[in-house]
Amino acid sequence: MKVLVVNCGSSSVKYTLFDMDGEKKIAWGIIECIGLPEAYYKRQTSGTEEKKDSVKVTNHTEAVELIIKNLLDKKTGSINNIDEISVVGHRIVHGGEKFSKPVLVTPEVKEGLKSCFAIAPLHNPAHYAGIVAVEKMLPGIPSVLVFDTAFHQTMPDYAYMYALPYELYEKDHIRKYGFHGTSHNYVSQRAAAMLGKPIGELNLITAHLGNGSSITAIQKGKVIDTSMGFTPLPGVVMGTRCGDIDPAIIAYLMDEYPQYRDGATINNLMNKKSGLYGISGLSGDMRTIVKAVAAGNKKAKLAFDMLTYSVKKYISSYFGLLNGIDALVFTAGIGENSPSVREKICENLSALGIEMDVAENNEPSGEERVVSTAKSKVKILIIPTNEELMIARESKKVLSNG
Ligand code: ADP
Repeated sequence: MKVLVVNCGSSSVKYTLFDMDGEKKIAWGIIECIGLPEAYYKRQTSGTEEKKDSVKVTNHTEAVELIIKNLLDKKTGSINNIDEISVVGHRIVHGGEKFSKPVLVTPEVKEGLKSCFAIAPLHNPAHYAGIVAVEKMLPGIPSVLVFDTAFHQTMPDYAYMYALPYELYEKDHIRKYGFHGTSHNYVSQRAAAMLGKPIGELNLITAHLGNGSSITAIQKGKVIDTSMGFTPLPGVVMGTRCGDIDPAIIAYLMDEYPQYRDGATINNLMNKKSGLYGISGLSGDMRTIVKAVAAGNKKAKLAFDMLTYSVKKYISSYFGLLNGIDALVFTAGIGENSPSVREKICENLSALGIEMDVAENNEPSGEERVVSTAKSKVKILIIPTNEELMIARESKKVLSNG
């Protein structure tokens, strides 16, 4: 059984074709810079090297068309006929309160997704365009939507509500939703497998640390709290996002600076110009920050310290909410690849039973592994995330459940 996973970002389309017998990747790639004078098409198959071309692609429909034509190419393609694809799984950033699990696409579901445009204006319209383009190119092949927010829908109301006037929740659906749910879900399942226990018997904290980062408290397989909110902006310090700040700062900026009187400019400041980048003035990329710290750059050190401190604060608070944990999981670009970030986060947490094996933590590896000491009460796990595979699995499941 073959499953095509499609992830339409605001200016990109990423795809992976899986053979679910053995869960192997057959073909994958990305078209980036859609709508700009030059777009880039990177693609690879299990038997070939990566190819990169510049292409002219003005919208998501053209991007999806190009990808599917390439998959069908007689010489270099990976499938002979569209019927070989059993189902297409779409990654959807925001499902609002409407969608708490993956769903098969129907006209009603598409309308439901449209009603979530206002709360995810950058992503959901792009996802919608991708769904329509797939329907055009792959007529008759079912599509499933898998939502980044769905895994977090188990949060209790006192965790997801903001203490604002209640009508803002009723009218504008302002509440915490949380993001990266597919990744937190995937790594929590892998953690249960590594610990050899059913997920329903475990308390976990999962730290997805990438360009965007979020921490999630998972009690017996159900999310009870997560660090992102109504949007992916709050929570820990990120690459270019500020994370938690005093919300009155926004009112101050609006009053003091004419240029900050519109939402888009303030959003740009907090989402694109802040975080590691804003503090260091160098970069939002952790690799650059780590190098600059080693070279003695003081602002880079401050950015590094702020990010690791903010993660540690969430871990400590979620530890309390869960009344103890079985494992702390690190995943995503920074979580999987930066020993110094992991070490700093876990420093002096022995009161919580979290003790890192520093030598093990420093071992370079792309594999799932345990990096806590033998006597650490809490297991510290590094688990490479695999959102695409999770989407493929969920899509297959929805299809077989009819
Ligand atoms: P996204 O959120 O865009 O999916 P990723 O999960 O790929 O991002 O994470 C990107 C982040 O991971 C960047 O900050 C990058 O610097 C960081 N990263 C990747 N490899 C390393 C490494 N070896 N050391 C430190 N940081 C790394």
